Amino acid sequence: MELLRDLLLIGAGLALVGYVVIAWRRARERRRRWRADLCPGCGYDLRGSAEKCPECGTPIQRFPRDAATFVIPDERMRGGG
Ligand SMILES: [Zn+2]
Repeated sequence: MELLRDLLLIGAGLALVGYVVIAWRRARERRRRWRADLCPGCGYDLRGSAEKCPECGTPIQRFPRDAATFVIPDERMRGGG
């Protein structure tokens, strides 16, 4: 039964990798739509909308663009010396 166990492990591994890849692609697509001011649900252009998507009704969450940028502390500012 070594072969069966190995096949199960390989199958579980492939399923996990597939899940991660699909989740990553979905997250990337949502990010791209958000940056382009498109609905994360259906991709409708939200530039003329304020509260929710007129196409599918998804609530629009708008954050300041600066909040998405990570601030990397500057080593020179901390050292002092
Ligand atoms: Zn929509």
